[in-house]
Amino acid sequence: LLQAPLWSRTSSSQSSLAKDSSTSDAKTGQGFKSHDMLAPFTAGWQTNELNPLIIEKSEGSYVYDINGKKYLDALAGLWSTALGGSEQRLVDAATAQLKKLPFYHSFWNRTTRPALDLAKELLELFTARKMAKAFFVNSGSEANDTQVKLVWYYYNALGKPDKKKFIARTKSYHGSTLIAASLSGLSALHQKFDLPAPFVLHTDCPHYWRYHLPGETEEEFATRLANNLEELILKEGPETIAAFIAEPVMGAGGVILPPAAYFDKIQAVVKKYDILFIADEVICAFGRLGYMFGCDKYNIKPDLVSLAKALSSAYMPIGAILVSPEIIEVIHSQSNKLGVFSHGFTYSGSPVPCVVALEALKIYKERNIVDVVNKIAPKFQDGVKAFSDSPIIGEIRGTGLILATEFVDNKSPNDPFPPEWGVGAYFGAQCEKLGMLVRVAGDNIMMSPPFIISPEEVDELISIYGKALRETEKRVQ
Ligand code: PLP
Repeated sequence: LLQAPLWSRTSSSQSSLAKDSSTSDAKTGQGFKSHDMLAPFTAGWQTNELNPLIIEKSEGSYVYDINGKKYLDALAGLWSTALGGSEQRLVDAATAQLKKLPFYHSFWNRTTRPALDLAKELLELFTARKMAKAFFVNSGSEANDTQVKLVWYYYNALGKPDKKKFIARTKSYHGSTLIAASLSGLSALHQKFDLPAPFVLHTDCPHYWRYHLPGETEEEFATRLANNLEELILKEGPETIAAFIAEPVMGAGGVILPPAAYFDKIQAVVKKYDILFIADEVICAFGRLGYMFGCDKYNIKPDLVSLAKALSSAYMPIGAILVSPEIIEVIHSQSNKLGVFSHGFTYSGSPVPCVVALEALKIYKERNIVDVVNKIAPKFQDGVKAFSDSPIIGEIRGTGLILATEFVDNKSPNDPFPPEWGVGAYFGAQCEKLGMLVRVAGDNIMMSPPFIISPEEVDELISIYGKALRETEKRVQ
């Protein structure tokens, strides 16, 4: 049976929640003691016994709950609202398109201008290598599911039907549909779902702090991981391995940055065995790392790219896949033989999400969003990393506008706090009480503020972080 963590959000902020529920009663005529929604990534006890945090409004880097309490949205929704919560130009773009053509599809060689324009824009924007086509989906998960189908279709067309396995990495997150959850390397996504699917293999998580051997440099660590990958490929048979998928910086798995030379070494291995490289840029793309794409930062030359989230600053659900010229050539010749490429969604390239994404890309360009991120990022990174000496913090890691804090005992990755202490949950609850929302995953705390966060808002973020940390230290010691 799942139990509430010792220091869950509600148990640590009873008084404000008591107030919350009475206000929501007054406002809506009903309490939220339990609710009717099967909530994503939420435990049953949370929806049966406790009040959810109900967000009603957003403004810049802030969101407000139904009682008017203001929170600094330090995760930008779900690593997604890059332009914050009140970018009028995105609202106007959606409104104008809704009035003109709210929907049309892109099946059977029918399509819309926004879909064509967005494909063109994306191909121009992605310069790590030349890409030939963009395919539209509604989410990051659909992007990665589509990647697998595309790759299988490609190898079947090439007459290499045995090349069907995918290699992903432990602790990666690629989404929660059947295939995307299989690719993900987090056991919670597999447990009791009969996953991962048998064609998915997982190789090492590249987390240097946690996994390096005594005396091993970052580069030596990367070499060892590349060797392990090669061993896995040889053991399985290179002729059976279709593709390798990686996030440039792992997000949900704990903001794990690749060690020095990691992607150079990994790319050399996959290339050697004729294995495709899929870059899952769902979190990293459009400036979060201080580069337009994670592939630019780490010199990755992918065959396929997955995009979503900041593509529309999350104002509309949309994702995309970029496909290399070599793969497109094969897919086109195969679909010509079969009569059609039988894959797509009602909302693939739907015009309203496409115009919102086009407007977001326009804003990124006009405002030099990469420069904006690079200007504010040091204040954010240095400000939070200044707390690294805390006796309950093992590592604070991050780059650009993404960062994680990992709580451990004795500064050691081998000394986790007992999970029932809920140290991470307590810290998260303190932040929430003080007016800031972060992501809590066990004893990892993650933040990825909107790109538009101001210096004053970064000061506020650091101040709340510091206060929450002091409270957490007091409870632990
Ligand atoms: N890939 C990565 C790297 C992600 O971080 C996520 C979501 O957080 C996904 C894929 C799945 O995206 P979605 O939730 O839009 O399906």
